[in-house]
Formats: sequence, structure tokens, C-alpha cells
Amino acid sequence: MNENFTNILILGAHYDSRARATKDSVNQNSPVPGANDGASGSAVLIELAKVLYNRRQNLSVQIWFLFFDAEDQGVDNSHGILGWNWREGSIKFVQDIENFYNSSEEHFDAMLLLDMVGGANLKFISEQHSTSSLLNELFETGRELGYTYQFPSDPIINSITDDHLPFVNYGIPSADLIINFWDNPDWPYHHTTEDNLSHISNYSLEVTGKTVEQFIYNNYLETNNQFQGDFPWNDDFNLPDSDLLTLIMIFLPIIGIASVLLIIRSRLIKLKNSV
Ligand SMILES: [Zn+2]
Repeated sequence: MNENFTNILILGAHYDSRARATKDSVNQNSPVPGANDGASGSAVLIELAKVLYNRRQNLSVQIWFLFFDAEDQGVDNSHGILGWNWREGSIKFVQDIENFYNSSEEHFDAMLLLDMVGGANLKFISEQHSTSSLLNELFETGRELGYTYQFPSDPIINSITDDHLPFVNYGIPSADLIINFWDNPDWPYHHTTEDNLSHISNYSLEVTGKTVEQFIYNNYLETNNQFQGDFPWNDDFNLPDSDLLTLIMIFLPIIGIASVLLIIRSRLIKLKNSV
């Protein structure tokens, strides 16, 4: 949408659901209906496309709606689908991303991922691969809309390997709106046959959609000659890995000693010349 703008915002969700309910207590070979794990994010994206299309002429950004296949077929509980890993679709997409935009003229502002956004008692976590300034702004936006339960001030902290990670690694500020799906009495249906429509909350879908919608207006809808949002979002500063730190620790003293020796040597030469 809005292909004439050079700044690009990506909205993503996966639409596949798991072929086997590997965490089901009984039906481990049955497919997961995937009402939340897959369909909820896709549903919000489709609704956002309708809503944003009506206001596209007032939005100063190009928007991509990406629906990923093959996110959810890896191994868990020692079961999986032979030969499949997690996130096959998004990894492949980012490998080919240069085919879809003109890197000399266009620029990615951010990527927002929605995953499992439709369960009852929705409560988002602080996902640690996400770009912190971007995820913080989504939380602030949600809280300003009154969704303080869904965007808590003390969220659970965890790192989730999800479809945003290839985009983070490509250098695009990215955020994953996702819940606690591993130990959650409010939504205990992850990768079971119970992940069906009876456990979907219309209100949770609405909270997610309205928050992303408002986030987009804050950053790309000009009101009173100004924008309300935090754009642009910076990449998180990453500490160098431990191998690099070790190398620096070894070489810094060597360089220091060598410099001191060089200074002493030049002083001695001067002294000798003056004598
Ligand atoms: Zn899943």
C-alpha cells in the first residue's frame, strides 16, 4: 500500500498452523486448528488492511502486509515434522528481500509482528529480540488507549524465536507482539487441538488491532503539522561477543606497552641528540 513512499513499514503474521498437535495430551497426530497460533495475527492484519486503506492518502508511509507460511512446523516435545525447521517462510523472504524493494531509494522503518494475539485475557510479554524502543512505544500506545492489562508495566520477559528475527538480523527495527504461550493458565492451548475458535476473544483482537492502528497514526498521520510518535527507532546497541572482547583485552595492553616504549625511545633519541 502507498508504493510511492520511500519509507516502508512491514506488518507481519504467520498464517500456517501446526500440522501436528505435539503438546496435546491425547491427539498428538491431529492438526492444530491454529485459531490463535497463526490465524489471530492474520485476521488482525486483514482488518488493518481494510481500515488503513481508507486512510492511505493521509499516511506518509508505504505499508507491506506479509503473511508467512511455514512458521510453525519445527520440533517441540521431541515431535515435529521431518525436515522442517521453525520460521521457514520469513527466513526465505528475508533472503530474497532485495527482490522486493529498491535498496538505493527505499528504506525500512520498522517491522511489527503479531503472533497469538487473540486468546482470552491477552497479556503481551517483553520480547527480548525485539528492538526495545519500538516495543516500548507499542506498549505506551496500548496503555494510552487504556489497555493497561494487555500492555502491563511489569511484563514477563523472554526471548522468542519468531518471524521478526530474520528482519532484526537484516537490520530492520522489529517488534514481536506475543503472549506467554508456554506456561499460561489463561491460554493453555498452545500446540494442542484446543487452539480453536472457542478460545478466541474478539476483544483481544480489537485491542491488538486498535493499538497497531494508533501506533501507525502517531508516526505517519500528520496532525497540526506534527507527528506524535517516536519515529525513527534505533537499533539496539549490542555488546561485542565474548571472543571479540577477549581479543580486545589481549591486544589493548600490548598496544599500550608498545606505545610507552616508542615514547621512551623517542625521548632517548632527543636526549642523545641534545648531548
Ligand atoms: Zn506455534
